[in-house]
Amino acid sequence: MKKIIAANWKNNGSKDFVKKYFSYLNENLEKNSYNEIIIFPPDIYCSLALELRNKIPARLGCQNISINTKNSTLTGGTTFKMFEDNFYEYVLIGHSENRANEENISLSLKVKLCETMKIIFCVGENKFDRDNNLVSSKIFSQLDDLIEVYNDSMDIVVAYEPIWAIGTGVTPSAKDISSTHEIIKKYLAQKLPSNKEKDIMVMYGGSVSFDNAKEILTSQFVDGVLIGGASLDVEEFTRICNMQI
Ligand code: PEP
Repeated sequence: MKKIIAANWKNNGSKDFVKKYFSYLNENLEKNSYNEIIIFPPDIYCSLALELRNKIPARLGCQNISINTKNSTLTGGTTFKMFEDNFYEYVLIGHSENRANEENISLSLKVKLCETMKIIFCVGENKFDRDNNLVSSKIFSQLDDLIEVYNDSMDIVVAYEPIWAIGTGVTPSAKDISSTHEIIKKYLAQKLPSNKEKDIMVMYGGSVSFDNAKEILTSQFVDGVLIGGASLDVEEFTRICNMQI
């Protein structure tokens, strides 16, 4: 079954890194890669990544977009139009590392703005929520931002990323991941009845590595993985990309 395998480089890389990464992918990624491969490089390497990506079956995504809430300009911002202009197809919205710095930014507004791109909408509980049995309610309230502006022409994937699992080397059990994905899918099907057949895909993120990827990817209701730290190792990332599930 086709899965989404995404690399979130965050604020890592250099020109040399980008060149070596794409050159390795070009040599080693299965040409008819079964899976949907997405790379999220830092904005500054956008043009370089675009140029080098052309040889390989990978898509590009932006890690975040800037919006100005008060109809003013924003120094240092990169808008979704600029990414679209550069043939970026995917956008991450609501990554926990950005949520923390953007308390006043409406995620619904971001979704609406980016509706012509493929949106990976991140949700996930923190440790407090987990310990206090608040996982579903936290995720539902995050999904409500998406639901508020959703329309059937949007192309949405949800990424379930428990904050306590990001960059820690700790993951929920595959069984836990599967049941949380089921809850997410059921909630969306209930709230977006017109979308029932389309069944929005749900991917998992948080300390995914080659060692645990297969178990996670073969779990029920898991449609892909979003990989941070381990995606910086191009050999490891490529081995995950080449998995046939
Ligand atoms: C992330 O930040 O999206 C992520 C999944 O990171 P890591 O794989 O390093 O936990």
